Amino acid sequence: MNAPVKSEHLNTREIQSLDSAHFLHPFTDHGDLATRGARVITHADNIYVWDSEGNKILDAMSGLWCVNAGYGRKELADAAHAQMMTLPFYNSFFQTTNVPAVKLAAKLASLAPAVGGRSFQHVFYSSSGSESNDSNVRMVRRYWDLMGQPQRKIIIGRHNGYHGSTMAGASLGGMSGMHAQGDLPIPNITHVEQPYFFENALPGESEADFGVRAAGFLEAKILELGADKVAAFIAEPVQGAGGVIIPPATYWPEIQRIVDKYGILLISDEVICAFGRLGHWFAYEKFGYRPDLVTFAKAVTSGYVPLGGVMVGDRVAKVLIEQGGEFNHGYTYSGHPVACAVALANIELMERENLVGRVKDDIGPYLAKRFAELADHPLVGVAETCGFVAGLVLVKDKVTKTAFDPNLAVGMVCRKHCFGNGLIMRAVGDRMIIAPPLVMTHAQIDEMIDLIKRCLDATLEEVRAKGWLA
Ligand SMILES: *Cc1c(COP(=O)(O)O)cnc(C)c1O
Repeated sequence: MNAPVKSEHLNTREIQSLDSAHFLHPFTDHGDLATRGARVITHADNIYVWDSEGNKILDAMSGLWCVNAGYGRKELADAAHAQMMTLPFYNSFFQTTNVPAVKLAAKLASLAPAVGGRSFQHVFYSSSGSESNDSNVRMVRRYWDLMGQPQRKIIIGRHNGYHGSTMAGASLGGMSGMHAQGDLPIPNITHVEQPYFFENALPGESEADFGVRAAGFLEAKILELGADKVAAFIAEPVQGAGGVIIPPATYWPEIQRIVDKYGILLISDEVICAFGRLGHWFAYEKFGYRPDLVTFAKAVTSGYVPLGGVMVGDRVAKVLIEQGGEFNHGYTYSGHPVACAVALANIELMERENLVGRVKDDIGPYLAKRFAELADHPLVGVAETCGFVAGLVLVKDKVTKTAFDPNLAVGMVCRKHCFGNGLIMRAVGDRMIIAPPLVMTHAQIDEMIDLIKRCLDATLEEVRAKGWLA
């Protein structure tokens, strides 16, 4: 047997070689990883992370859209410690429950606003966004069976949507690269085009007109399939992993009209958008639509421990509870007491520091103002924000907004310069995106914008030297 590995005695190269020898990473090209070595993140505080070479990096992605309360929050560690010493685990099967899971369910029900007479009084727990969307598929199908319409099986998602990486999650999502590996989507899941104005609008079309037309893709698909076959529509309020795709203001009201017209369930996947990211506890409130099911995960615990779930609206909950008998579905860790205790502490902290309110009224508007300046940069075709997410598109020709050849991977060039300059910014094709922690100060927003400008300049210099500009 190998001697136990003591991390404090390993240098970066040793960690990297053990990493590539033993750790199969998610969404990673392992040939590439073995040659270049992973960046080893060792510790973090507030909005910064440090790597094993001592570099301090401003984390404008909140880990992976998770760490809304920032790093190093003692309250969350204390809550986990106290709960582990009291009751580290017990299941919620077999008519048992635990106090943190009950308290959190009641708290979440109080935070989810009722809309159009529909409220959210119930929570179904999982440990991730993917699992939660699997639960959604199970609940939606169970609902229509109980309603005596078992032929309503099809769930419609959107191209470039992201709903996780399990069989159901990857199928609901519209990522062609994921579908290509593993014979996805699974049966009875289909997709419509996304509401991405920059890429999909017709020449001269207004944003408002495009929003209505993009919602119409859903109605066309429903009519093509037959409305009596369609169970649900699932979408992110703002598409995150797809590149922070912010829909025109006309989009969601029209979607609501369509799902109401055909009686279809509406699933709002808020794994990124809930818990303050868009300046509300839940994002459907911002856009004014009325979902039946709301997926959450990530920032519910600020990512400190895994937790996910589904807010189950009255329409579905009533049928499952009153007519359903036993629902043959659930997870060992549904309602995990430690995860729920950390979520409660996280929500308490967010309330105490008014993190949701400050995104709406303070740092959100300030980020919008500062980020908009980036649109003046010669490489930037569009720069837009929504709450505390933002995206900009790198273009070859600013005037005609012509894209670079995707094979040049200009987004990756920019990302490299970001890492090199101490900034984590994500590239989705040539769209550069951020979702910073909600604890950011104005001075830190300034610091981040300065870093982004520096990285855009470095990228411009490189693409000019390579002769890639128009
Ligand atoms: C991250 C994400 C998921 C998947 O969550 P996991 O915890 O990785 O399973 C699902 N939906 C959306 C919108 C996400 O951003």
